[in-house]
Amino acid sequence: MEERIATVIKNAGSHYLLSELPRWEPFPAVLRGKVRLQKSSATNPIAVGDRVSYITADEKGPLLRVASQPCTGKCSTGAIPSAVITEILPRRNYVIRKSTNLSRQSHIIAANLDQAVIAVSLFFPEIKLPFLDRILVTCEVYKIPVVIALNKVDLYRDEAPEALAEFHRIYEGAGYRVIETSCKTGEGIDSLREACGGKLSLFSGESGVGKSSLIKAIDPSLDPKIGKISLAHLQGKHTTSLYEMYPISGSAPDVPEPAGYLIDSPGLRGFGLVDLEKEEIAKYFPEMLRVADECRFVPCTHTHEPGCAVKAAVDAGQISAERYNSYLGMLEEDGKFR
Ligand code: GDP
Ligand code: ZN
Repeated sequence: MEERIATVIKNAGSHYLLSELPRWEPFPAVLRGKVRLQKSSATNPIAVGDRVSYITADEKGPLLRVASQPCTGKCSTGAIPSAVITEILPRRNYVIRKSTNLSRQSHIIAANLDQAVIAVSLFFPEIKLPFLDRILVTCEVYKIPVVIALNKVDLYRDEAPEALAEFHRIYEGAGYRVIETSCKTGEGIDSLREACGGKLSLFSGESGVGKSSLIKAIDPSLDPKIGKISLAHLQGKHTTSLYEMYPISGSAPDVPEPAGYLIDSPGLRGFGLVDLEKEEIAKYFPEMLRVADECRFVPCTHTHEPGCAVKAAVDAGQISAERYNSYLGMLEEDGKFR
């Protein structure tokens, strides 16, 4: 019996939609029989982005019966699932969401991400750097590379060139890629699409920064605002079905179709809460991690210790004061963001 490998692109309730990426040919599959699951405390066994082994039902006759409910509702194919998922392959990374801070239960909302595209805007609405830094820390915890899409530059490039230069200094200095974009003028959109080429990207951003507009700009056939279910109606476990993978049509030259894949994350809540000990936080500021082994004391909180390499780097301007302040804020707010 031949086992094939595909990627989960959607949780359709009674079944899943799979596609053998990089080919985009969705087909329904059910989870039946003895599935070899990954060990985790998550309430959902399979998430969008999971790579799974599957067999087709005609290879395993009796399974056809349990799988033979026609696809209803949100599944676009309308087909009868004829594939059966037999194994979930180990995840490279995943993003979880806990219902509350203390909740033991968690949902895996996406797995095997190549990158997170964090949409931000310096103004309209005005950016809160400590908030962005928290998201970046979360991505570091999840081991997901980040691309920052600095959107709406048409609104402030001429008016606030210093603020723009400052942003680049802080975040490129920390090691992040920053792509200036404008959905109004179209600048940077090709670069962003190219950055998504051949990758699975999780798009996230605070409401109002233009995340939906960016998705639409890189692929006009995608419109997150249309058919989007109101979050208010989706409590608890239903939230996972919001996360769905879409192919990005490539209008970039030399990029085969599809150009990449994206998962839209509704708001930043999706990034959930990560459990971090105080001593761990600095590890997730890459620019601090790079110098921390030169600190005189181990462990070092990089606050009051003599011979602290992180503080020395801040004083020398090698680590930005803004990022360091975000770090101090996270130490103080112990527990609140986690
Ligand atoms: P979302 O909440 O992050 O998905 O943001 P939307 O895509 O809905 O955009 C919020 C508002 O900002 C809308 O009025 C958009 O037209 C506007 N907008 C989005 N991108 C840009 C941009 O690059 N420049 C300007 N001037 N406005 C933008
Ligand atoms: Zn130190």
